[in-house]
Formats: sequence, structure tokens, C-alpha cells
Amino acid sequence: SDHDLTYPECPAAMDWAERFPAYAATTPAGIRQDNLIAKEDLVKYGHPKLTQQVEFADIGCGYGGLLFALAPKLPQTMILGLEIRTSVTDFVQEKAKALRVQHASEGLYQNVSCIRANTMKFLPNFFNKAQLSKIFLCFPDPHFKTRKHKARIVSTTLNSEYAFVLKPGGMVYTITDVEDLHMWMAGHFDAHPSFERVLEAELADDECVEVMQTETEEGKKVERNGGQKHVAVFRRLADPPWP
Ligand code: SAM
Repeated sequence: SDHDLTYPECPAAMDWAERFPAYAATTPAGIRQDNLIAKEDLVKYGHPKLTQQVEFADIGCGYGGLLFALAPKLPQTMILGLEIRTSVTDFVQEKAKALRVQHASEGLYQNVSCIRANTMKFLPNFFNKAQLSKIFLCFPDPHFKTRKHKARIVSTTLNSEYAFVLKPGGMVYTITDVEDLHMWMAGHFDAHPSFERVLEAELADDECVEVMQTETEEGKKVERNGGQKHVAVFRRLADPPWP
């Protein structure tokens, strides 16, 4: 149940600097033009703005294998894991802090953190419209039984939320070892008017696809067991013009 899940009433109400202290803006000049939090909200909630915003979200990040692999590869990109289990969230937060200390001289891992969230309910509370450039859905819980399908993190409704928080041209990356779930996710994204499938040829040199397969805890497990990994990636289309 979510009774002990805290979430901000809107993205501006979130104390992002607590998670990303190296990005707290100390002067207004340090805030990038494309920062989406309005000045009024900054005053209303009193949190310091960040110099930039979270751009990648790893939904159901588990122990953060993907996060910690991507963070040093893309040191200019802020990457956030969202995880529903408290102890797992704590683990990822602590690991990020430890890695920051360990790599202080290179300034690495300042760009990665994790928050506890039920992403099926509160995603737009954390991110503004068109904020994200990538969303990762790596090895989501399969919920095999038909009566449990509504618990899957891909559905027409949830895909509309992913579309809302993604910028046009942004991408959703999915991977699973469960063929039925792969068909389910691909079917729902293919059918959604805000998304189109990214062709395999285009993904050949996408390092995110490689990292999803090799660095996630589940990806490693599937590798050890000789299982299949089904990858599908979808692009957020621009909203059609009003007729
Ligand atoms: N992505 C990781 C990987 O590939 O190794 C972990 C995959 S694990 C099978 C699925 C994760 O999603 C679990 O850690 C689970 O707690 C989390 N999860 C399930 N439902 C969630 C929700 N509604 N919001 C956030 N996280 C959720």
C-alpha cells in the first residue's frame, strides 16, 4: 500500500538539491534557461533550484545497475532511479553518496540518485511536462496472470503519462526476458498515438541498449541462466498541431 509513500504535490515542491547537492544553484545566473520550474514556485516552496534537471528516469531501478553504469559515461546528464521498495531505495542513495566520495577528484556520480516512488501513481508529481529525454523500463515485474495484468507498468494510461513527461523525440527503452510481457509492452506502445518504434538499425550504436542488457541486475541474471533478452525502444512523437 502507499500509505507511507510520500510524494510532492508538484515537481517544484520536491527538494531536488537534497538528492543532487552538486547541482544546487547558488545564484540565479547559474540556472539554465531551459529549467522548467517557474520562479513563483521556487518562492512558494523555497527549495533551491538546480542548475539543470533530471533527464533520464529508470523506473523500478532495483539496485541501480543501470544508473551506476550510465552515470560516469554521461557525466553531464542527471539520472534518477525510481523504486518502490524502501530498503532498495536507501541502498541506491547510499551507494551514490559513497561513489561520489570515492570519485571526488574526478567529480563523478554527482549526477545520479534515487527516490522512493510508486511510479504507477505519481510520475507527474515528480517530472514536468516534456522534461525527460529517456525513460528506462528494465525487466519490469511480469505479473503473469491475466487478472494481474493491470499491475504491469505499461498500459495505455501509463503510456500517456510517459508521453507527458518525455520531450518530443525522447525515448522509452524496454527490456524483458518474458516474451509475453515484451509483446504486451510493444503492443501498447505501438498502439499509442504519441509513440513510434525505433528501428533496430538506429539502435546499433546506442550505448543505453548495451548497458540495459549487460549492467542491470536482471540482465546479468538472465545472462547467467542463458535466457532471452527482448529489447524494444519507442520514440515520443511531437504532438500533432491543432486542426
Ligand atoms: N530494473 C532493475 C533491473 O533490471 O535489474 C530491477 C528489476 S526488478 C524485476 C523490478 C523492480 O521494480 C523492483 O525493484 C520493484 O521493487 C520495482 N517496482 C515494482 N513496481 C514499482 C512501482 N510501481 N514503482 C516503482 N518501482 C516499482
